[in-house]
Amino acid sequence: MRAVVKADERVGCTFVTDRPEPTLGPGQVRIGVGATSVCGTDAEIYHSTTAALELGLTYPVTMGHEVAGTIVEVGPDTHGLREGMRVAVETHLGCGECFYCRTAAGHNCQAMRLLGIDVDGAFAERVVVPARSCFVLPDEIGLEAAALLEPAGSAMHAVLRCGVPLAGASVLISGAGPVGLVLAQIASAHNARQVVVIEPNGVRRARAEQLGRGVVGLDVQVDPLEWGDLVTANRHGFDVAFECSGALPALTTLVRCVRNEGTVMAVGLVNGEFPLAVTRTLITRGLTLRGSFGRSLWATWDRLSGLVLSGTVDLQQLITHRLPLHELPAALDLMQGDAGKVVLLPSLDTTVTRRHSALAI
Ligand SMILES: [Zn+2]
Ligand SMILES: [Zn+2]
Repeated sequence: MRAVVKADERVGCTFVTDRPEPTLGPGQVRIGVGATSVCGTDAEIYHSTTAALELGLTYPVTMGHEVAGTIVEVGPDTHGLREGMRVAVETHLGCGECFYCRTAAGHNCQAMRLLGIDVDGAFAERVVVPARSCFVLPDEIGLEAAALLEPAGSAMHAVLRCGVPLAGASVLISGAGPVGLVLAQIASAHNARQVVVIEPNGVRRARAEQLGRGVVGLDVQVDPLEWGDLVTANRHGFDVAFECSGALPALTTLVRCVRNEGTVMAVGLVNGEFPLAVTRTLITRGLTLRGSFGRSLWATWDRLSGLVLSGTVDLQQLITHRLPLHELPAALDLMQGDAGKVVLLPSLDTTVTRRHSALAI
């Protein structure tokens, strides 16, 4: 089958048309990939960055982890799913046995495997996953939007974990990538008092303002505390802030810009260490600094799909480009620029007849 494969530690990847079908074991399903979206992690893997190599990929591995499709085959001892069902996939594949998996915290599983990193992923015509990692889709959610439930779930999870009711709150978000945009939509729909998104790219700022009612995009040159008299006059800072850019300086900005007793949620994967003046910043200001990773099964998925069904979160609008699998490098280039979410559609690859094509730069 057609697939995008990371063969070894070298930069790049390879598009092949003869990738063997993954074997289907007990408790697993084979999914015909309808849509698979490209994530920042895929860019790291493609470029073989230190962060990607630290993930300890199992070579060769089919890349890709954000996916929705239709079940085409059900393995033995698999209950509740059948051929023809449309599903999206939780890409953090928990062991199902450890303390965390047994206490509804499988996103912190100690033996976690990751789709497209430890096991063959979704940049392919078909992918095999555990049945327990499948989320059955409501009819109203299309496969393209459903592929985005996984990254959007990171935003939903952070909202559910922050412990701050968003109604009437002033909310600061750094990064207008897909996670930041979904967060802005959720905050806006919860009638937050203010939703401010810090983002250096003007096109992305404009996208944030279009997607959420009353959302304001601010260039990184503008101090969020200098902007907006409500914040400075009454509260001396934002009630809650979400770091979604993965940039270390942004985390520093958010810590400075929340009010005393405010909450900062770290969502974007930051490289490097975060310097924190514990007494002056954390203790005396009474801040809550909290991390949020992945999605909880299945509370996050349930609430997020509910917001999609009610029209509160529009995942389809986050998609700016649709490409065939073999154009992954072009997708990564687009993401470096102004693109929103790029979706790869295996159905667009049918005209490619080359047996192998190296995609390395
Ligand atoms: Zn991802
Ligand atoms: Zn586990």
